[in-house]
Amino acid sequence: MNSIEKAPLRKLLAVFAHPDDESFICGGTLAKYAGEGVDITLVSATRGEMGRRMGNPPYLNRETMAAAREIELQQACASLGIGRLIFFDIRDKTVEFADEAELTARIAGLIQEVDPDVVLTFHEKLGGHPDHCAIGKATTAAFQQTGHRGNLYFITFGDAMERPERYGYTRKDVVKIDVHAHLEAKLAAFRAHRCQTEIDEWVWQPDQEALARFGAHEYFLKGNTGERAQALHDLFNA
Ligand SMILES: [Zn+2]
Repeated sequence: MNSIEKAPLRKLLAVFAHPDDESFICGGTLAKYAGEGVDITLVSATRGEMGRRMGNPPYLNRETMAAAREIELQQACASLGIGRLIFFDIRDKTVEFADEAELTARIAGLIQEVDPDVVLTFHEKLGGHPDHCAIGKATTAAFQQTGHRGNLYFITFGDAMERPERYGYTRKDVVKIDVHAHLEAKLAAFRAHRCQTEIDEWVWQPDQEALARFGAHEYFLKGNTGERAQALHDLFNA
């Protein structure tokens, strides 16, 4: 093997709805790939200014929340190793009312610009929140529209995809990623999102107790590729 040959830069584009989606849902995976040198671009469609949690005791209001959550997300990105952060500046809780063609075109432009190997977003039906489903639908449409070479995956919650048949999928549709070595970064990102997490006592317990609350795996659903021969464990090797 030629020692001066450099491995090509791997790139990941994550298109989510709110500050904290990246940390709470797939922070371990993002930290893992960032640690391997993957170049990560994160889109947060909104600034999360309609979040119900406003600090504990509450110290934010609807006017101050967007700026606070922007700073928190920047800190979470630093904890996880996310290099580039983009806000779409859609009003929180209104992504489903955004002009769909316009939003899709914007994401398609970003896919062409970033040229990612992996695109992560929400499943348009299993997103669990109207903003999540809407950004997932637009990102899926954008991915299809561009005919992009990379792979599309949907983020999923907790260990729900240990039983994918409940959602009409099989084991082969799921990528299960071992994130146990990246839970400290995930915890730091949880703590960065302070106004959302400070009401959760467990997050602020001593590290070892807080870390014990995290699952060792995060799960992703394939968004674009056909039936595979086996279950996978790496988003980039599919
Ligand atoms: Zn969210």
